[in-house]
Amino acid sequence: MSSKKIVNIIAYIFVAVILIFVFTKGKPVEKPASSEIYSMNTICDLEIYGKDKEAALQKSVSIINTINSIVDDFSPQSDVYKINENAGIRPVKVSKTTIDILEKAIQIAKQTNGAFDPTIRPLLVIWGFKNKNYRVPTEEKIKAALKLISYQDIVINKEDNTVFLKHKGEGIDLGGIAKGYTLDKIKEALDNFNIKSALINMGGNVLTYKNPPNGSVWRIGIKNPRGSGIRGIITVKGTKFISTSGDYERYFIKNGVRYCHIINPKTGKPARKIISITVVSDKGYLGDALSTAFFVKGKEFALQNATRFNVGVVGFDDKMTPFISNNIKELITIYNEAR
Ligand code: AMP
Ligand code: MG
Repeated sequence: MSSKKIVNIIAYIFVAVILIFVFTKGKPVEKPASSEIYSMNTICDLEIYGKDKEAALQKSVSIINTINSIVDDFSPQSDVYKINENAGIRPVKVSKTTIDILEKAIQIAKQTNGAFDPTIRPLLVIWGFKNKNYRVPTEEKIKAALKLISYQDIVINKEDNTVFLKHKGEGIDLGGIAKGYTLDKIKEALDNFNIKSALINMGGNVLTYKNPPNGSVWRIGIKNPRGSGIRGIITVKGTKFISTSGDYERYFIKNGVRYCHIINPKTGKPARKIISITVVSDKGYLGDALSTAFFVKGKEFALQNATRFNVGVVGFDDKMTPFISNNIKELITIYNEAR
């Protein structure tokens, strides 16, 4: 069987997997306005309680669809597609939202020494994460793609509202920040409605809004990264953003090695220092981008930098040993086995 044959590559695509389970006790006092939609390559679950729940739900869904239409790098109408198509050619007029997301992405890239890099796209392409034709690329291909990874090459002109990638072949991918950013916008929208409580889950990026409908704390399950069930609980009070990055979301296995969709921009290879990490934050974009960056950087960096970013972290290292930052220790329960 030729090595090209992908017979021994098992591709598990858990695009739709919800990484975090949420529990509340007792019966809800009222029925929520709820919706489940597929957007941003994942399932988005929305549950909203309160007087304006229907209008708030409509607004939230429209925010998701609008941002998706901007960041969807396969849609020729999207800003990100146009920026990538015109890399090395010309600046492209984009929406203010695109510039806002890119500025935030660049800020995190700087603060994590490039562990998070929104120009990661060429590496995702050669590993097959863009077209699901998974393969281990040659070292030459990796070297060539690495030359195209550089968030410093994103030129933003805020007067003209344009974005330009300096070199041909460069490409932007906002998969590591867009969902969290969207949750920020949903939170802002909910603040303008009469809403008692809401829970929004976009593929492992969760917004808890105010208190649960029937209690004072949210209890959020940490999914078992190696199998079914949960491995722990995070107790959350009020409005928070909880983002998880893991090697079990989108990956393939070749010759016994697991290759996941989060790529180390320094080596050009899928990150493998840890198995999963969850970030608890007051800002959606921050938690989302940091969960990706911490996944690349590993346990020590995550634990040492949690307070610097004003976030809490809980995760599992490569031996499945749990780690928790001091600032959220009292909020976390870890089980010895999956439940
Ligand atoms: P998340 O699940 O939030 O960790 O996001 C993972 C997604 O972010 C991947 O599917 C890619 O679209 C993108 N990505 C992968 N590696 C990186 C990286 N080093 N920096 C920024 N985005 C990345
Ligand atoms: Mg992320």
